[in-house]
Amino acid sequence: LVQRMQGFGSTIFAEMTTLANEHGALNLGQGFPDTEGPQEILDAAKVAIDAGRNQYPPGPGVPELLDAIAAHQKRFYDLDVDPRREVLVTVGATEAIAATILALCEPGDEVVTFEPYYDSYAASIALAGAVRRTSVLRFPDFAVDEESLRAAFSSRTRLVLLNTPHNPTGKVFTRAELELICALAREHDAWVVTDEVYEHLVFDGLEHVPVATLPGMWDRTLTISSAGKTFSVTGWKVGWVSGPAAAVAAVRTVKQFVTYVGSGPFQPAVALGLGLDDAVYAGLSRSMSAKRDLLVEALTGIGLDVAVPGGTYFVVADAAPLGATDALEFCRELPGRAGVAGVPVSVFHDDEDAARTLVRFAFCKQDDVLREAARRLSRLR
Ligand code: PMP
Ligand code: GLN
Repeated sequence: LVQRMQGFGSTIFAEMTTLANEHGALNLGQGFPDTEGPQEILDAAKVAIDAGRNQYPPGPGVPELLDAIAAHQKRFYDLDVDPRREVLVTVGATEAIAATILALCEPGDEVVTFEPYYDSYAASIALAGAVRRTSVLRFPDFAVDEESLRAAFSSRTRLVLLNTPHNPTGKVFTRAELELICALAREHDAWVVTDEVYEHLVFDGLEHVPVATLPGMWDRTLTISSAGKTFSVTGWKVGWVSGPAAAVAAVRTVKQFVTYVGSGPFQPAVALGLGLDDAVYAGLSRSMSAKRDLLVEALTGIGLDVAVPGGTYFVVADAAPLGATDALEFCRELPGRAGVAGVPVSVFHDDEDAARTLVRFAFCKQDDVLREAARRLSRLR
């Protein structure tokens, strides 16, 4: 394995899911739902397969999906996006993240991001030979710290990689925080790459603010999203990136040689999904917010401090009262000891001390599973 990928081993999600399966544990580790998304979308994929849409789709994505992505940006955010020049379909958001960083960064360029960070960020930055500079979001409020954020920027900063709503913390960045980040990006003439895969999973009347909608930001922003979370189809791997045409073309150049194209018959199905009524989107976030409440109350009930998430399907809890001193070790033992799996937040940090005893639990699971998981955890007290 090349030097720049040393230390990346296997992802924490694969490790914890394997452990959960070995022990027959309830898997609140890897974030994927245990119920199906809207039936219309599943049916549309079957129709596409039966209609013979099983060969290579066009490089940028199938036209109806490109159109649907542009229409979605208009409907929800009043953004005018040219579906033929400013949108690229990718193999999940994961490919969009990697291809975007590879397309924008020279070796040695710096990428500013927040920790805890989604694991593929660190790996994609390393793949590009770029350098990660981070600002820590601290439990329990995970507020942006202006001083450390400023200090992360330098004359080598090429891009800022951010994620709102944020995995693993569940934080929804405020407009003021995003404006600060954008001001710093403009000051350093940096790109903003914004991962908004949880854009529709926002609770409590909070507002998801797409970076591309902030004044003056369209021209330096690449927005990434995915169908996986919104429609509960994480295995379909249909993602996309949108932004100024020249930057999207650069990402497309890289993407061509990573996967070329992908997810043929799922693309028209996602196009149909993006056109579903507002009520479908609202229903999804309402149901996820009820699950959030259920798990937050259960974890609080057994004496844990939790950071109540404003979005995503993750909650971070301090597992110290359950005996955790090292989150990674604790999570490796948890499936065997308690029959529950979680993910240690420390693995998403450079500064592991910021998350020594913090564990992320996914609540995109059936209510009975969440209740039983909390019951099992309570026995550790
Ligand atoms: N970004 C974040 C923040 C995520 O949580 C995920 C999925 N877990 C991804 C990107 C990857 O999305 P996809 O499955 O579409 O590749
Ligand atoms: N995004 C999901 C999570 O955070 C899992 C993705 C993966 O397994 N790579 O749990």
